[in-house]
Amino acid sequence: MTGAFVVSLDLELMWGVRDKRTVTSYGDAVLGERQAIPGMLQRFAANDIRATWATVGMVFARDRRDLLNHAPALRPAYADANLSPYGALEDLIGSDEGVDPLHYGRDLVAQVAATPGQEVATHTFSHFYCLEPGQTIAAFEADLEAARAIASGEGLSLRSIVFPRNQMTPEHIAAAHRQGIDCYRGNPGTYAYRSRSGAENSAMVRATRLLDAVVPLDGAHGYQLREVAEGPFNIPASRFLRPYVRKAPAFSALHLRRVMGEMTEAARKGLMYHLWWHPHNFGRNTEQNLAMLDRLLAHFQMLKREHGMASASMGDLAERRLSAAAGT
Ligand SMILES: [Zn+2]
Repeated sequence: MTGAFVVSLDLELMWGVRDKRTVTSYGDAVLGERQAIPGMLQRFAANDIRATWATVGMVFARDRRDLLNHAPALRPAYADANLSPYGALEDLIGSDEGVDPLHYGRDLVAQVAATPGQEVATHTFSHFYCLEPGQTIAAFEADLEAARAIASGEGLSLRSIVFPRNQMTPEHIAAAHRQGIDCYRGNPGTYAYRSRSGAENSAMVRATRLLDAVVPLDGAHGYQLREVAEGPFNIPASRFLRPYVRKAPAFSALHLRRVMGEMTEAARKGLMYHLWWHPHNFGRNTEQNLAMLDRLLAHFQMLKREHGMASASMGDLAERRLSAAAGT
């Protein structure tokens, strides 16, 4: 079996960061997605890269009324009320994409959907946190139902999910399956990457992941896909692509080398290598980040020529598994 390079992006605008950052501190990076996304799409198209864009449902909304019409009646009652975006809907966001490009992104979704090989997937409707106290499975399922409805209004059906903050449990995965999802992005298999709530995500755990981004602390992250008898297919992340750090270009160079080394190993051994990031990570230093992507894609082209490495979205892998199961 030849290796595959899987790419997924969490398209969330401010909805993915609103509890940690403000429009003042991070709005420029989110606005920068408007340049970064077309830049990525153009490179993906030129290199035949098939990528999954896990998109927050609220990003699809035409305007505030559309957003409120799609919002589920059953909403997560997090113990930490700041985690819920619903309080902000009435007065903290603008009326539509024209006046508030930090919260609405229907135009971006349309650009993704119009680019060959790109899969529009879900990152839940409200950037739902499955491990935060106060949430329930019923609220999660209502959230996914809303995500499905707003996407289907654009003629898109969702088959893949990326769980916000990579928080998930088997019960949430089963609920996603009931909502028509047949694959999800799991976490890398080692300790530092397991599914955690915000409170459990200690400085030590984060430092371990940071170090592992540049030196092989726990080996290369390529893997063989594991068959499951039923339920959604796990397509674990191999690595988060860290954005370019202007103050530490040597760190960025080492990180890129680590990622390319892991891609090479996956291609040689016929493994999966699943790289992910957020478009807002490219929203600052966009030129340097796109240059980094150019180097990665040139490396992929070399691996494709020499080892037959393929590009696949999460949905492609799920589709392949379903057709294999059906014997076609
Ligand atoms: Zn997110």
